[in-house]
Amino acid sequence: MKRTHNRVIVAGGGPVGAVAALLLARAGIPVTMIERAQDVVLDYRASTFHPPTLDLLEESGITAALTAMGLVCPTVQIRDREIGKIAEFDVTRLKNETGHPYRLQCEQFKLVGFVYRELAKIAGVDLRFGHEVATIDHGDHEVTVEAEHDGDLVTLRGDILIGCDGGRSTVRKLMAIAFPGLTYPEQFLIAGTRFDFRAHMPDISSVNYTADPIRWFMLLQIPDMWRILVPVAPEISADDAVSDESLQSSLQNICPRPDGYDIVVRAIYRVHQRVAETYRRDRIFLAGDAAHLNNPLGGMGLNGGLHDVISLTDRLIAWWHGRADETILAGYEPQRRPEAINAIHAITARNKKLLEERDPQVRARNLDEMRAIAADPERSYQYLLDSAMISSLRRSGMIR
Ligand SMILES: Cc1cc2nc3c(=O)[nH]c(=O)nc-3n(C[C@H](O)[C@H](O)[C@H](O)COP(=O)(O)OP(=O)(O)OC[C@H]3O[C@@H](n4cnc5c(N)ncnc54)[C@H](O)[C@@H]3O)c2cc1C
Repeated sequence: MKRTHNRVIVAGGGPVGAVAALLLARAGIPVTMIERAQDVVLDYRASTFHPPTLDLLEESGITAALTAMGLVCPTVQIRDREIGKIAEFDVTRLKNETGHPYRLQCEQFKLVGFVYRELAKIAGVDLRFGHEVATIDHGDHEVTVEAEHDGDLVTLRGDILIGCDGGRSTVRKLMAIAFPGLTYPEQFLIAGTRFDFRAHMPDISSVNYTADPIRWFMLLQIPDMWRILVPVAPEISADDAVSDESLQSSLQNICPRPDGYDIVVRAIYRVHQRVAETYRRDRIFLAGDAAHLNNPLGGMGLNGGLHDVISLTDRLIAWWHGRADETILAGYEPQRRPEAINAIHAITARNKKLLEERDPQVRARNLDEMRAIAADPERSYQYLLDSAMISSLRRSGMIR
């Protein structure tokens, strides 16, 4: 594959695109990053970083920055709304497998802000904020992107394009790459409050998945607040779902409080399980949400997207600097796509089923099974390896 422009274009400056741009730029590859927004998008989605993601990003300095901005969470609980704690998993048991045996909670926009600041310091980095990818042309010698900026079309050229432009990826659509899978009928509501749940529920962890046939929820501690995630029935509009009344009711369901809650964050998301039919068209690659979407129960979407760009940029850097021929690029999709299906989808779907099960007998059986896994040292260790994404990365050969 010829190189004419000595430049990689990254479409989308979310967490995955920004990290891709930084890893390439730090390796001496000139990068253009095209981002539709004017600055960091205040996005209340991802907050969990798993141990191997922290290991893999250590050398880049990203792990140190996340650690400085984040909260170390050593345990994860499965709970039942009526019964309370069902099972607790101690991530620190993985200390012989990883340098970071815990979940780190840090909002994704803090990662993006840090990476933008780092990118701005590197010569050869062209940051195009307020630019939206509109057309793509690719041939034997180059890839050309037209981006809409202030009502005009700006032409940008490079040798490779990485589409990191999120779930509704324009890159994926322009390449006519199918995105099969499903969209859940319910939406997912997020509320953040500074109320100290642990003062009132002393046995909780910082990460709690709570089962209930109707009102299951996830309760997470992040550095300066607690966040809940709850399902919203399909017949309820997004506006009604984010109303004060609805948010107060969701929070009261977790811990009744006569004074009501101070709500500092509210957001609603539609959630899907989808994987692109291919991660590559010639010079164009997909990564992150552009390539795969999953439900947030397990905190795997962004982690998986970061694993994508760690794999892809390692390969691009080796090829760029002549340490490998271009066949190394062909290894990206087989390394990453099966894990989106076998690990990310399988585990997140299993987690959702566990939390929302309505049949009382199945539900009791599922919770018993979680108790049994937690009580068995070998099974709980395997559960930890799987839920921390270590098994997935080992299977795909990204870590030993
Ligand atoms: C409620 C919720 C909670 C979650 N929690 C977790 C978690 O704890 N851990 C985890 O690992 N994952 C989590 N996820 C998933 C995670 O948020 C996503 O996987 C992650 O944001 C993907 O990053 P990305 O950079 O691929 O895409 P995005 O974050 O969507 O970024 C895409 C970027 O591209 C830009 N863009 C879009 N179109 C264009 C265009 N045409 N031209 C230029 N720019 C464009 C957008 O402005 C955006 O900045 C959660 C998801 C949800 C819904």
